[in-house]
Amino acid sequence: MSSLPPMMKMKMCFNPSCERDTKSETTYRKGWRLRTGDSAQLCETCASAYDSGRFCDMFHSSAAGWRNCESCGKRLHCGCIVSTQSFVLLDAGGVDCMSCARKNVMMAARGGEFDWLRKNPKA
Ligand SMILES: [Zn+2]
Ligand SMILES: [Zn+2]
Ligand SMILES: [Zn+2]
Repeated sequence: MSSLPPMMKMKMCFNPSCERDTKSETTYRKGWRLRTGDSAQLCETCASAYDSGRFCDMFHSSAAGWRNCESCGKRLHCGCIVSTQSFVLLDAGGVDCMSCARKNVMMAARGGEFDWLRKNPKA
């Protein structure tokens, strides 16, 4: 009877779909924020996919939860912890990717929606 030592799990990539040979030497990098407050540990391949925002495209393309940005149509994996930082939920329903959300806020500000800010500079 031999049970696997728990240490064996430590050096594995957090991505369950990772196809990298876990026996080969690789450096591990931090990925997205876990609910525990720790960061996911990713192998070099997965970490660079995450850094460039392609992680969900590469590993979750057949998963459920994909939606399109209302402004630019970019695919966003809304049902996924990996992408929680890359989209915002719109008041009227639907989602915006982060770059469109930023643009839309600036446009709304110029359109006078934040007029009260100018009238109440100390607010
Ligand atoms: Zn990996
Ligand atoms: Zn995803
Ligand atoms: Zn967009």
